Amino acid sequence: MHTLAGKTALVTGSTSGIGLGIATELARQGATIVLNGFGDPAPARAAIEALGVPVHYHGADMSKPAEIADLMQFAADSAGGVDILVNNAGIQHVAAVEDFPPERWDAIIAINLSSAFHTTRLAIPAMKARGWGRIVNLASVHGLVGSAQKSAYVAAKHGLVGFTKVVALELAQTGITCNAICPGWVRTPLVEKQIEARAEQGGISLAQAQVALLAEKQPSHDFVTPEQLGQLAVFLCSPAAAQIRGAAWNVDGGWVAQ
Ligand code: NAD
Repeated sequence: MHTLAGKTALVTGSTSGIGLGIATELARQGATIVLNGFGDPAPARAAIEALGVPVHYHGADMSKPAEIADLMQFAADSAGGVDILVNNAGIQHVAAVEDFPPERWDAIIAINLSSAFHTTRLAIPAMKARGWGRIVNLASVHGLVGSAQKSAYVAAKHGLVGFTKVVALELAQTGITCNAICPGWVRTPLVEKQIEARAEQGGISLAQAQVALLAEKQPSHDFVTPEQLGQLAVFLCSPAAAQIRGAAWNVDGGWVAQ
């Protein structure tokens, strides 16, 4: 059954990784998809098209408010507006605070936090007019707990969890919900870079670096998958989730239970 037929989902940063996984699961439920992200969008577009739903792509740089406004206008013009907004675009930089390049700090805050403010503020009026909407913010376990060397990322993700709560409260008496998903380690290009850095710094193999990365924080010693996160997003879009508002839902193999 296509539970999201007739809905349009915009997933930021959906040319790879978790964003593409979420777009895929929403498409499986019949949603029209608006893709966004860097790199060649052709493989992501083909993967979604194969599921038989309309696909649109806009390459807005999510660090730039004017380009975000253009993306939202594009979604309205090409796909009839955004019913499901998934704020997923994100980057990482790993360094101690005193060595952290200020321009990397600014980029992480802009892409991982401020972009969600801009898409959300532009999406709400049409969602209110339709009386229905779903806003899903891809935060992280780092929206709930800290890790050394990730000051900008942890600050942005804690900010995104706080933003999620405020939006949920402001919309509490509407048909629009806003929630955050907080994944632990998911094997995507963002994490591949951290496995490679760990292997290089420790003089160990990539396989050993992967085991060490998981063992340090994630009790299951297993990666979360983009498909699992996509299916949680589908659930958050369902009628059963209509009273889930302002949640920060960890999907983390037990990371924050420790
Ligand atoms: P990824 O690197 O595979 O994908 C990131 C996506 O964002 C790509 O499509 C990329 O093109 C896009 N992007 C990056 N900068 C952009 C910009 N300025 N404008 C537009 N698009 C941009 O990473 P991922 O692991 O899939 O991460 C997706 C989200 O999930 C991020 O917000 C990340 O913080 C979060 N997350 C990831 C993990 C993990 O373990 N991989 C864990 C928790 C949370």
